[in-house]
Amino acid sequence: MFDTALKRKAFSSTLLTWYVGHKRDLPWRHTKDPYKIWTSEVMLQQTTVATVIGYYQRWLKRFPTMKSLAQADIRDVLKAWQGLGYYNRARNFHRAAQIVIDQFGGELPQEPDGLRALPGFGPYTVGAVLSIAFNKPVTIVDANVRRVFQRILAVQNPEASFDKDLYKLLESVISRRSPGDFNQGLMELGALICRSKEPSCNVCPVKEFCSAYKKGIQELIPVPKQLKTENIRAVVGIIKEKNKILIQKRPSEGLLADLWEFPGGKVESRDKDLKEALKREILEETGANCSIGRYLGKVNHAYTQFRVELNVFEANVLKDFTPGKNMRWVTGKDLKNKYPMPSGSAKIVKKILKSDH
Ligand code: SF4
Repeated sequence: MFDTALKRKAFSSTLLTWYVGHKRDLPWRHTKDPYKIWTSEVMLQQTTVATVIGYYQRWLKRFPTMKSLAQADIRDVLKAWQGLGYYNRARNFHRAAQIVIDQFGGELPQEPDGLRALPGFGPYTVGAVLSIAFNKPVTIVDANVRRVFQRILAVQNPEASFDKDLYKLLESVISRRSPGDFNQGLMELGALICRSKEPSCNVCPVKEFCSAYKKGIQELIPVPKQLKTENIRAVVGIIKEKNKILIQKRPSEGLLADLWEFPGGKVESRDKDLKEALKREILEETGANCSIGRYLGKVNHAYTQFRVELNVFEANVLKDFTPGKNMRWVTGKDLKNKYPMPSGSAKIVKKILKSDH
């Protein structure tokens, strides 16, 4: 398939011609500013293009330059990221911007080792930023590229070394003149034509290079994985004092680190009912004895690793209570604008507390 330089060149130029004529008009494709391209690439990891567009535009209004991001408070950074998930991306982005401003005079390094040393720069981001922003022939493998090549090479059950071998192959195929367009072309092909379900092989520009298509097995590749998702039932307490609501900050390590949420937690098998579970959780987390009041409603949210059903109640603190250092009494406006929350908690603010605030 790619055994001669002529075939490799033919693949590369066919892909580039198709990409130039068919690429989607996306905001980050109108810039050569490395900071803006970096922003889009951080956001696009594990998030769909449709979701990223709005975030990208709001982000650049809020943090128009790398310097403005580096100087921002981490809480504002996480707030602007709220809803995109995988918050470590935002933390690393912020930290890396600070390093680039402090140690590199605001210029991103233009070689792989320099970028790899920055927080959040894995092989994908290194390749994307170097090829798209700096026109360097550095290859990338993401889920789309991997699927396209599993099909082109008709690999149903890839070995552990598949990605490594693919990087090597791509290094021999990547366009030296337009490496950024080549990389984006492959990802675009995976997103628009060689989709995971029902690939549009009839209009695929590279079908003559595709072994799976020739064998008629493209729909069998890749073999779908059985995903196990845990279902969690949880309870949440809305504790009010005057017109303010109690929230607390999650630990700085682990899942949804540093985000703010209402007191509450997982319902355990030992809990008699939801109210008892909430009473216990609030006592364990805040030290406050509570009586549980009205049921306010239910919110469901699917995170990547689990699905959660959040049962929301009013709760009243029974005795004098002094919030711990990771807790705050906040107004509804502050909840919406200042404190970054996990998506499930943000849904509670939007759907259940909306009438009060
Ligand atoms: S021919 Fe079909 S399976 Fe092969 S790369 Fe094109 S869209 Fe994908």
